[in-house]
Amino acid sequence: MFDKILIANRGEIACRVIKTARKMGIRTVAVYSDADRHALHVEMADEAVHIGHAPSRESYLVIEKVIAAAKQTGAQAIHPGYGFLSENADFCRACQDNNLVFIGPPVGAIEAMGSKSAAKDIMGKADVPLVPGYHGADQDPELLRASSEQMGYPVLLKAAAGGGGKGMRQVWQAEDFDEALAAAKREAMNGFGDDTMLVEKYLTEPRHVEIQVFCDQHHNAVYLFERDCSLQRRHQKVIEEAPAPGMSDSLRQQMGEAAVRAAQAIDYQGAGTVEFLLDHDGRFYFMEMNTRLQVEHPVTEMITGQDLVEWQLRVAAGQTLPCRQEQLTIHGHAFEARVYAEDPDKDFLPVTGQLHLLRPPADNDNVRVDTGVRQGDEVSVYYDPMIAKLIVWDEDRETALQRLRQSLRDYQIAGMKTNLPFLYKLASVDAFAHADLDTRFIERHEQEIF
Ligand code: ADP
Repeated sequence: MFDKILIANRGEIACRVIKTARKMGIRTVAVYSDADRHALHVEMADEAVHIGHAPSRESYLVIEKVIAAAKQTGAQAIHPGYGFLSENADFCRACQDNNLVFIGPPVGAIEAMGSKSAAKDIMGKADVPLVPGYHGADQDPELLRASSEQMGYPVLLKAAAGGGGKGMRQVWQAEDFDEALAAAKREAMNGFGDDTMLVEKYLTEPRHVEIQVFCDQHHNAVYLFERDCSLQRRHQKVIEEAPAPGMSDSLRQQMGEAAVRAAQAIDYQGAGTVEFLLDHDGRFYFMEMNTRLQVEHPVTEMITGQDLVEWQLRVAAGQTLPCRQEQLTIHGHAFEARVYAEDPDKDFLPVTGQLHLLRPPADNDNVRVDTGVRQGDEVSVYYDPMIAKLIVWDEDRETALQRLRQSLRDYQIAGMKTNLPFLYKLASVDAFAHADLDTRFIERHEQEIF
Protein backbone atom coordinates (compact mmCIF):
# COMPACT_ATOMS: atom_id res chain seq x y z
CA MET A 1 0.00 0.00 0.00
CA PHE A 2 1.07 3.60 -0.56
CA ASP A 3 2.68 5.60 2.26
CA LYS A 4 1.61 8.93 0.90
CA ILE A 5 -0.88 10.14 -1.70
CA LEU A 6 -1.71 13.53 -3.15
CA ILE A 7 -5.30 14.59 -3.68
CA ALA A 8 -5.63 16.70 -6.82
CA ASN A 9 -8.94 18.24 -5.84
CA ARG A 10 -10.69 20.45 -3.31
CA GLY A 11 -13.96 20.63 -1.40
CA GLU A 12 -15.96 17.69 -0.15
CA ILE A 13 -14.35 15.05 -2.34
CA ALA A 14 -10.83 15.99 -1.21
CA CYS A 15 -12.01 15.70 2.40
CA ARG A 16 -13.77 12.42 1.64
CA VAL A 17 -10.60 10.87 0.17
CA ILE A 18 -8.46 12.13 3.06
CA LYS A 19 -10.81 10.44 5.57
CA THR A 20 -10.30 7.02 4.05
CA ALA A 21 -6.57 7.52 3.55
CA ARG A 22 -6.24 8.39 7.24
CA LYS A 23 -8.23 5.33 8.25
CA MET A 24 -5.80 3.22 6.20
CA GLY A 25 -2.72 4.91 7.69
CA ILE A 26 -1.78 6.65 4.45
CA ARG A 27 -0.36 10.17 4.66
CA THR A 28 -2.04 12.83 2.55
CA VAL A 29 -0.97 15.88 0.60
CA ALA A 30 -3.52 18.55 -0.32
CA VAL A 31 -3.11 21.12 -3.07
CA TYR A 32 -4.78 24.50 -2.88
CA SER A 33 -5.31 27.76 -4.71
CA ASP A 34 -5.23 31.30 -3.33
CA ALA A 35 -8.94 31.08 -2.59
CA ASP A 36 -8.51 27.86 -0.60
CA ARG A 37 -5.66 28.85 1.72
CA HIS A 38 -7.81 28.18 4.78
CA ALA A 39 -10.02 25.45 3.30
CA LEU A 40 -11.05 22.37 5.25
CA HIS A 41 -9.22 19.96 2.92
CA VAL A 42 -5.97 21.84 3.58
CA GLU A 43 -6.51 21.64 7.31
CA MET A 44 -7.29 17.92 7.17
CA ALA A 45 -4.31 16.85 5.08
CA ASP A 46 -0.90 16.10 6.58
CA GLU A 47 0.77 18.48 4.14
CA ALA A 48 -0.43 21.06 1.66
CA VAL A 49 1.09 22.67 -1.41
CA HIS A 50 -0.01 25.97 -2.89
CA ILE A 51 -0.52 25.62 -6.65
CA GLY A 52 -1.66 29.00 -7.90
CA HIS A 53 -4.38 31.57 -8.27
CA ALA A 54 -8.04 31.06 -7.53
CA PRO A 55 -9.34 30.33 -11.06
CA SER A 56 -9.04 26.57 -11.57
CA ARG A 57 -7.34 27.11 -14.95
CA GLU A 58 -4.46 28.61 -12.98
CA SER A 59 -4.37 26.00 -10.21
CA TYR A 60 -6.42 22.80 -9.99
CA LEU A 61 -6.35 22.29 -13.77
CA VAL A 62 -2.63 22.86 -14.27
CA ILE A 63 -1.10 19.41 -14.76
CA GLU A 64 2.53 20.51 -14.26
CA LYS A 65 1.78 22.17 -10.95
CA VAL A 66 -0.04 19.17 -9.54
CA ILE A 67 2.70 16.79 -10.67
CA ALA A 68 5.38 19.08 -9.21
CA ALA A 69 3.54 19.14 -5.87
CA ALA A 70 3.52 15.33 -5.80
CA LYS A 71 7.21 15.07 -6.66
CA GLN A 72 8.16 17.70 -4.15
CA THR A 73 6.35 15.98 -1.28
CA GLY A 74 7.29 12.43 -2.20
CA ALA A 75 3.72 11.27 -2.81
CA GLN A 76 3.54 7.94 -4.65
CA ALA A 77 0.06 8.24 -6.09
CA ILE A 78 -2.53 10.86 -7.04
CA HIS A 79 -6.25 10.68 -6.40
CA PRO A 80 -7.99 13.01 -8.86
CA GLY A 81 -11.45 13.05 -7.22
CA TYR A 82 -14.17 13.98 -9.72
CA GLY A 83 -14.25 16.95 -12.10
CA PHE A 84 -11.00 18.89 -12.66
CA LEU A 85 -8.34 16.48 -14.03
CA SER A 86 -10.12 13.24 -13.14
CA GLU A 87 -10.99 12.29 -16.72
CA ASN A 88 -8.07 13.98 -18.40
CA ALA A 89 -5.98 11.46 -20.34
CA ASP A 90 -3.01 13.87 -20.54
CA PHE A 91 -2.95 14.09 -16.77
CA CYS A 92 -3.09 10.32 -16.43
CA ARG A 93 -0.18 10.05 -18.86
CA ALA A 94 1.80 12.75 -17.03
CA CYS A 95 1.42 10.74 -13.81
CA GLN A 96 2.81 7.67 -15.53
CA ASP A 97 5.71 9.60 -17.06
CA ASN A 98 6.64 10.81 -13.60
CA ASN A 99 6.38 7.42 -11.89
CA LEU A 100 3.27 8.41 -10.01
CA VAL A 101 0.31 6.06 -9.76
CA PHE A 102 -2.88 7.60 -11.12
CA ILE A 103 -5.68 6.36 -8.83
CA GLY A 104 -8.08 5.61 -11.65
CA PRO A 105 -8.24 3.68 -14.91
CA PRO A 106 -5.48 3.34 -17.52
CA VAL A 107 -5.09 6.11 -20.13
CA GLY A 108 -6.63 3.94 -22.84
CA ALA A 109 -9.89 3.53 -20.93
CA ILE A 110 -10.19 7.27 -20.31
CA GLU A 111 -9.55 7.98 -23.97
CA ALA A 112 -11.97 5.33 -25.15
CA MET A 113 -14.81 6.82 -23.08
CA GLY A 114 -13.84 10.45 -23.67
CA SER A 115 -15.97 10.68 -26.76
CA LYS A 116 -19.60 9.63 -26.56
CA SER A 117 -19.56 8.47 -30.16
CA ALA A 118 -16.39 6.38 -29.85
CA ALA A 119 -17.78 4.93 -26.62
CA LYS A 120 -20.98 3.86 -28.38
CA ASP A 121 -18.95 2.17 -31.07
CA ILE A 122 -17.01 0.10 -28.56
CA MET A 123 -20.08 -0.75 -26.48
CA GLY A 124 -22.10 -1.82 -29.48
CA LYS A 125 -19.35 -4.31 -30.34
CA ALA A 126 -19.29 -5.57 -26.74
CA ASP A 127 -22.98 -6.36 -27.00
CA VAL A 128 -24.08 -3.61 -24.62
CA PRO A 129 -27.48 -2.26 -25.74
CA LEU A 130 -27.37 1.29 -27.21
CA VAL A 131 -29.99 4.02 -27.60
CA PRO A 132 -30.92 3.90 -31.28
CA GLY A 133 -29.24 6.72 -33.14
CA TYR A 134 -26.42 7.94 -35.32
CA HIS A 135 -22.89 8.33 -33.95
CA GLY A 136 -20.78 8.35 -37.10
CA ALA A 137 -17.87 10.54 -38.13
CA ASP A 138 -19.60 12.04 -41.15
CA GLN A 139 -21.12 15.24 -39.78
CA ASP A 140 -22.91 16.47 -42.88
CA PRO A 141 -25.98 18.32 -41.50
CA GLU A 142 -28.15 16.70 -44.18
CA LEU A 143 -27.07 13.27 -43.02
CA LEU A 144 -27.80 14.12 -39.38
CA ARG A 145 -31.17 15.45 -40.40
CA ALA A 146 -31.96 12.41 -42.51
CA SER A 147 -31.06 10.03 -39.69
CA SER A 148 -33.35 11.99 -37.33
CA GLU A 149 -36.19 11.74 -39.78
CA GLN A 150 -35.61 8.05 -40.24
CA MET A 151 -35.57 7.49 -36.48
CA GLY A 152 -38.63 9.67 -35.97
CA TYR A 153 -38.95 12.67 -33.69
CA PRO A 154 -38.33 13.50 -30.90
CA VAL A 155 -34.55 13.15 -31.11
CA LEU A 156 -31.76 14.35 -28.87
CA LEU A 157 -28.68 16.06 -30.27
CA LYS A 158 -25.64 15.47 -28.10
CA ALA A 159 -22.09 16.76 -28.24
CA ALA A 160 -19.70 13.82 -28.58
CA ALA A 161 -17.29 15.60 -26.25
CA GLY A 162 -20.12 16.78 -23.97
CA GLY A 163 -20.65 16.54 -20.25
CA GLY A 164 -22.78 18.10 -17.56
CA GLY A 165 -25.77 18.32 -19.86
CA LYS A 166 -24.06 20.88 -22.12
CA GLY A 167 -24.29 20.75 -25.88
CA MET A 168 -27.58 18.86 -25.73
CA ARG A 169 -30.81 19.79 -27.52
CA GLN A 170 -34.14 18.05 -27.84
CA VAL A 171 -35.78 18.32 -31.23
CA TRP A 172 -39.49 17.61 -31.38
CA GLN A 173 -40.20 18.28 -35.04
CA ALA A 174 -38.39 18.53 -38.36
CA GLU A 175 -38.92 22.32 -38.62
CA ASP A 176 -36.78 22.88 -35.54
CA PHE A 177 -33.91 20.64 -36.53
CA ASP A 178 -31.56 23.12 -38.22
CA GLU A 179 -31.79 25.72 -35.52
CA ALA A 180 -31.31 23.16 -32.72
CA LEU A 181 -28.30 21.66 -34.48
CA ALA A 182 -26.67 25.06 -34.89
CA ALA A 183 -27.29 25.94 -31.23
CA ALA A 184 -25.99 22.60 -29.93
CA LYS A 185 -22.89 22.87 -32.12
CA ARG A 186 -22.20 26.40 -30.89
CA GLU A 187 -22.52 25.33 -27.27
CA ALA A 188 -20.31 22.30 -27.85
CA MET A 189 -17.63 24.35 -29.60
CA ASN A 190 -17.61 26.91 -26.79
CA GLY A 191 -17.65 24.34 -24.04
CA PHE A 192 -15.43 21.59 -25.40
CA GLY A 193 -13.71 22.94 -28.51
CA ASP A 194 -15.29 20.15 -30.53
CA ASP A 195 -18.71 20.27 -32.17
CA THR A 196 -19.04 16.66 -33.29
CA MET A 197 -22.66 15.65 -32.74
CA LEU A 198 -24.55 12.44 -32.10
CA VAL A 199 -28.21 11.98 -32.73
CA GLU A 200 -30.21 9.74 -30.42
CA LYS A 201 -33.81 8.74 -30.21
CA TYR A 202 -35.16 10.90 -27.39
CA LEU A 203 -36.80 8.65 -24.85
CA THR A 204 -39.61 10.67 -23.36
CA GLU A 205 -39.95 9.16 -19.90
CA PRO A 206 -36.84 7.14 -19.14
CA ARG A 207 -35.21 6.58 -15.81
CA HIS A 208 -31.50 7.21 -15.35
CA VAL A 209 -30.13 4.07 -13.75
CA GLU A 210 -26.38 3.67 -13.45
CA ILE A 211 -24.26 0.75 -12.37
CA GLN A 212 -21.20 1.02 -10.18
CA VAL A 213 -18.45 -1.26 -11.43
CA PHE A 214 -15.00 -2.09 -10.11
CA CYS A 215 -12.12 -3.90 -11.79
CA ASP A 216 -8.68 -4.78 -10.50
CA GLN A 217 -5.39 -5.40 -12.33
CA HIS A 218 -5.91 -9.17 -12.15
CA HIS A 219 -8.96 -9.38 -14.44
CA ASN A 220 -11.50 -9.48 -11.62
CA ALA A 221 -14.59 -7.35 -12.09
CA VAL A 222 -17.75 -6.85 -10.06
CA TYR A 223 -20.77 -4.57 -10.04
CA LEU A 224 -21.94 -2.91 -6.85
CA PHE A 225 -25.53 -2.64 -8.02
CA GLU A 226 -27.33 0.43 -9.22
CA ARG A 227 -28.24 4.00 -8.39
CA ASP A 228 -31.36 5.72 -9.65
CA CYS A 229 -30.50 9.29 -10.62
CA SER A 230 -33.74 10.18 -12.37
CA LEU A 231 -34.40 13.29 -10.32
CA GLN A 232 -32.65 15.82 -12.52
CA ARG A 233 -32.94 19.48 -13.36
CA ARG A 234 -31.66 20.37 -16.81
CA HIS A 235 -29.99 16.97 -17.07
CA GLN A 236 -28.16 17.52 -13.77
CA LYS A 237 -28.71 15.16 -10.86
CA VAL A 238 -30.48 16.55 -7.79
CA ILE A 239 -31.41 13.57 -5.58
CA GLU A 240 -30.03 10.07 -6.10
CA GLU A 241 -30.94 6.79 -4.48
CA ALA A 242 -29.86 3.18 -4.19
CA PRO A 243 -31.11 0.62 -4.88
CA ALA A 244 -33.33 1.72 -7.78
CA PRO A 245 -36.97 1.21 -6.77
CA GLY A 246 -38.80 -1.63 -8.46
CA MET A 247 -35.75 -3.40 -9.89
CA SER A 248 -36.27 -7.11 -10.28
CA ASP A 249 -33.34 -9.36 -9.44
CA SER A 250 -33.10 -10.47 -13.04
CA LEU A 251 -33.00 -6.92 -14.44
CA ARG A 252 -30.42 -5.98 -11.81
CA GLN A 253 -28.28 -8.89 -12.89
CA GLN A 254 -28.70 -8.16 -16.60
CA MET A 255 -27.74 -4.52 -16.17
CA GLY A 256 -24.88 -5.40 -13.82
CA GLU A 257 -23.49 -7.92 -16.26
CA ALA A 258 -23.82 -5.52 -19.19
CA ALA A 259 -21.92 -2.90 -17.17
CA VAL A 260 -19.15 -5.36 -16.37
CA ARG A 261 -18.97 -6.26 -20.09
CA ALA A 262 -18.68 -2.55 -20.85
CA ALA A 263 -15.79 -2.16 -18.41
CA GLN A 264 -14.01 -5.26 -19.64
CA ALA A 265 -14.33 -4.11 -23.25
CA ILE A 266 -11.94 -1.26 -22.44
CA ASP A 267 -9.65 -3.15 -20.01
CA TYR A 268 -10.92 -1.06 -17.19
CA GLN A 269 -9.34 -0.73 -13.74
CA GLY A 270 -10.68 0.93 -10.62
CA ALA A 271 -14.06 2.56 -10.03
CA GLY A 272 -16.31 3.25 -12.98
CA THR A 273 -19.95 4.00 -13.61
CA VAL A 274 -21.93 2.81 -16.56
CA GLU A 275 -24.96 5.01 -17.14
CA PHE A 276 -28.08 3.56 -18.69
CA LEU A 277 -31.49 4.84 -19.63
CA LEU A 278 -34.20 2.45 -18.49
CA ASP A 279 -37.58 2.60 -20.16
CA HIS A 280 -40.95 1.55 -18.80
CA ASP A 281 -40.92 -1.92 -20.26
CA GLY A 282 -37.57 -2.76 -18.67
CA ARG A 283 -35.40 -2.19 -21.73
CA PHE A 284 -32.14 -0.44 -20.95
CA TYR A 285 -29.67 1.42 -23.12
CA PHE A 286 -26.04 2.44 -22.60
CA MET A 287 -25.54 6.20 -22.38
CA GLU A 288 -21.97 6.69 -21.27
CA MET A 289 -19.31 5.46 -18.91
CA ASN A 290 -17.78 7.78 -16.33
CA THR A 291 -14.21 6.79 -15.64
CA ARG A 292 -13.96 8.15 -12.12
CA LEU A 293 -15.60 8.08 -8.72
CA GLN A 294 -19.06 9.67 -8.97
CA VAL A 295 -20.46 12.43 -6.78
CA GLU A 296 -23.24 10.05 -5.75
CA HIS A 297 -21.01 7.10 -4.76
CA PRO A 298 -22.02 7.35 -1.06
CA VAL A 299 -25.48 5.86 -1.64
CA THR A 300 -23.77 2.73 -2.94
CA GLU A 301 -21.49 2.70 0.10
CA MET A 302 -24.48 2.95 2.42
CA ILE A 303 -26.32 -0.04 0.94
CA THR A 304 -23.29 -2.29 0.44
CA GLY A 305 -21.30 -1.36 3.54
CA GLN A 306 -18.18 -0.92 1.38
CA ASP A 307 -15.79 2.04 1.28
CA LEU A 308 -15.28 2.75 -2.42
CA VAL A 309 -12.31 5.05 -1.89
CA GLU A 310 -10.62 2.23 0.01
CA TRP A 311 -11.36 -0.05 -2.93
CA GLN A 312 -9.82 2.52 -5.29
CA LEU A 313 -6.64 2.73 -3.23
CA ARG A 314 -6.32 -1.04 -2.97
CA VAL A 315 -6.83 -1.56 -6.69
CA ALA A 316 -4.39 1.22 -7.60
CA ALA A 317 -1.78 -0.38 -5.33
CA GLY A 318 -2.18 -3.63 -7.28
CA GLN A 319 -4.25 -5.59 -4.76
CA THR A 320 -7.17 -7.77 -5.76
CA LEU A 321 -10.78 -6.59 -5.27
CA PRO A 322 -11.86 -6.87 -1.62
CA CYS A 323 -14.97 -8.92 -2.56
CA ARG A 324 -16.27 -11.33 -5.13
CA GLN A 325 -19.65 -10.74 -6.73
CA GLU A 326 -21.40 -13.34 -4.55
CA GLN A 327 -20.15 -11.61 -1.41
CA LEU A 328 -21.83 -8.33 -2.28
CA THR A 329 -25.35 -7.73 -1.02
CA ILE A 330 -27.79 -4.86 -0.71
CA HIS A 331 -28.93 -3.83 2.72
CA GLY A 332 -31.54 -1.12 3.20
CA HIS A 333 -32.06 2.02 1.16
CA ALA A 334 -30.11 5.27 0.76
CA PHE A 335 -30.75 8.74 -0.65
CA GLU A 336 -28.37 11.56 -1.44
CA ALA A 337 -29.41 15.20 -1.86
CA ARG A 338 -26.99 17.75 -3.26
CA VAL A 339 -27.07 20.92 -1.21
CA TYR A 340 -26.10 23.94 -3.30
CA ALA A 341 -25.51 27.64 -2.76
CA GLU A 342 -27.99 28.70 -5.41
CA ASP A 343 -31.22 30.62 -5.63
CA PRO A 344 -34.20 28.52 -6.70
CA ASP A 345 -36.23 31.72 -7.12
CA LYS A 346 -33.74 33.10 -9.61
CA ASP A 347 -33.47 30.16 -11.94
CA PHE A 348 -31.00 28.41 -9.64
CA LEU A 349 -28.30 31.00 -10.18
CA PRO A 350 -25.25 30.21 -8.06
CA VAL A 351 -24.86 32.53 -5.09
CA THR A 352 -21.76 33.41 -3.11
CA GLY A 353 -21.10 34.65 0.38
CA GLN A 354 -20.08 33.63 3.85
CA LEU A 355 -21.65 30.70 5.68
CA HIS A 356 -22.53 32.63 8.84
CA LEU A 357 -24.38 29.68 10.25
CA LEU A 358 -23.86 26.10 9.21
CA ARG A 359 -25.61 23.47 11.26
CA PRO A 360 -25.96 20.17 9.44
CA PRO A 361 -28.23 17.47 10.85
CA ALA A 362 -26.60 15.06 13.29
CA ASP A 363 -24.00 12.85 11.61
CA ASN A 364 -24.55 9.22 12.66
CA ASP A 365 -24.95 5.76 11.16
CA ASN A 366 -28.12 6.82 9.37
CA VAL A 367 -27.21 10.33 8.33
CA ARG A 368 -23.96 11.26 6.67
CA VAL A 369 -22.90 14.72 5.58
CA ASP A 370 -20.00 14.94 3.12
CA THR A 371 -18.80 18.50 2.97
CA GLY A 372 -15.71 20.60 2.35
CA VAL A 373 -16.79 23.69 4.28
CA ARG A 374 -17.12 24.85 7.89
CA GLN A 375 -19.18 27.57 9.51
CA GLY A 376 -17.60 30.91 8.60
CA ASP A 377 -16.18 29.71 5.26
CA GLU A 378 -16.82 31.51 1.99
CA VAL A 379 -18.58 30.05 -1.00
CA SER A 380 -16.69 31.76 -3.82
CA VAL A 381 -17.42 32.37 -7.47
CA TYR A 382 -14.52 30.22 -8.54
CA TYR A 383 -15.78 26.69 -8.02
CA ASP A 384 -18.83 24.51 -8.06
CA PRO A 385 -21.25 25.95 -5.48
CA MET A 386 -22.02 22.62 -3.80
CA ILE A 387 -22.03 23.05 -0.02
CA ALA A 388 -22.57 19.44 0.96
CA LYS A 389 -24.03 16.10 0.12
CA LEU A 390 -26.63 14.88 2.56
CA ILE A 391 -26.82 11.11 2.60
CA VAL A 392 -29.35 9.12 4.59
CA TRP A 393 -29.89 5.41 5.08
CA ASP A 394 -32.60 3.24 6.54
CA GLU A 395 -33.99 -0.28 6.43
CA ASP A 396 -36.49 0.48 3.66
CA ARG A 397 -37.25 3.20 1.12
CA GLU A 398 -40.17 4.71 2.97
CA THR A 399 -38.28 5.15 6.23
CA ALA A 400 -35.21 6.41 4.42
CA LEU A 401 -37.32 9.00 2.61
CA GLN A 402 -38.83 10.16 5.89
CA ARG A 403 -35.34 10.51 7.24
CA LEU A 404 -34.30 12.50 4.16
CA ARG A 405 -37.16 14.95 4.68
CA GLN A 406 -36.42 15.27 8.39
CA SER A 407 -32.72 15.86 7.76
CA LEU A 408 -33.43 18.45 5.08
CA ARG A 409 -35.68 20.24 7.55
CA ASP A 410 -33.04 20.09 10.29
CA TYR A 411 -30.28 21.43 8.05
CA GLN A 412 -29.61 25.06 8.96
CA ILE A 413 -27.64 27.38 6.73
CA ALA A 414 -27.60 31.17 7.00
CA GLY A 415 -25.60 33.70 5.08
CA MET A 416 -26.77 32.84 1.59
CA LYS A 417 -29.64 31.30 -0.30
CA THR A 418 -29.50 27.56 -0.77
CA ASN A 419 -31.60 24.97 -2.54
CA LEU A 420 -32.63 23.35 0.79
CA PRO A 421 -36.27 24.51 0.61
CA PHE A 422 -36.45 23.21 -2.97
CA LEU A 423 -34.97 19.85 -1.95
CA TYR A 424 -37.41 19.56 0.92
CA LYS A 425 -40.41 20.24 -1.31
CA LEU A 426 -39.09 17.85 -3.92
CA ALA A 427 -38.62 15.12 -1.32
CA SER A 428 -42.19 15.71 -0.20
CA VAL A 429 -43.91 15.21 -3.56
CA ASP A 430 -46.32 12.27 -3.33
CA ALA A 431 -45.22 10.75 -6.61
CA PHE A 432 -41.68 10.55 -5.24
CA ALA A 433 -42.89 8.49 -2.29
CA HIS A 434 -44.59 6.23 -4.84
CA ALA A 435 -41.32 5.99 -6.77
CA ASP A 436 -43.04 7.17 -9.91
CA LEU A 437 -39.71 8.31 -11.32
CA ASP A 438 -38.34 9.44 -14.64
CA THR A 439 -35.94 12.13 -15.79
CA ARG A 440 -38.73 14.65 -16.35
CA PHE A 441 -40.12 14.26 -12.85
CA ILE A 442 -39.14 17.75 -11.69
CA GLU A 443 -40.52 19.38 -14.81
CA ARG A 444 -43.79 17.51 -14.44
CA HIS A 445 -44.21 18.33 -10.75
CA GLU A 446 -43.11 21.94 -10.99
CA GLN A 447 -46.35 23.26 -9.55
CA GLU A 448 -46.01 21.19 -6.40
CA ILE A 449 -42.39 22.15 -5.94
CA PHE A 450 -42.26 25.85 -6.77
P1 ADP B 1 -23.76 14.45 -19.89
O1 ADP B 1 -22.47 13.75 -20.14
O2 ADP B 1 -23.80 15.83 -20.45
O3 ADP B 1 -24.21 14.37 -18.46
P2 ADP B 1 -25.46 12.22 -20.64
O4 ADP B 1 -25.31 11.54 -21.94
O5 ADP B 1 -24.94 11.55 -19.42
O6 ADP B 1 -24.84 13.68 -20.76
O7 ADP B 1 -26.99 12.56 -20.40
C1 ADP B 1 -27.43 13.33 -19.30
C2 ADP B 1 -28.91 13.18 -19.07
O8 ADP B 1 -29.64 13.51 -20.26
C3 ADP B 1 -29.35 11.76 -18.74
O9 ADP B 1 -29.24 11.48 -17.39
C4 ADP B 1 -30.80 11.79 -19.20
O10 ADP B 1 -31.61 12.42 -18.26
C5 ADP B 1 -30.77 12.66 -20.43
N1 ADP B 1 -30.62 11.88 -21.68
C6 ADP B 1 -29.49 11.52 -22.30
N2 ADP B 1 -29.73 10.82 -23.43
C7 ADP B 1 -31.07 10.72 -23.54
C8 ADP B 1 -31.98 10.13 -24.50
N3 ADP B 1 -31.54 9.50 -25.60
N4 ADP B 1 -33.30 10.23 -24.27
C9 ADP B 1 -33.77 10.88 -23.19
N5 ADP B 1 -32.99 11.47 -22.27
C10 ADP B 1 -31.65 11.39 -22.42
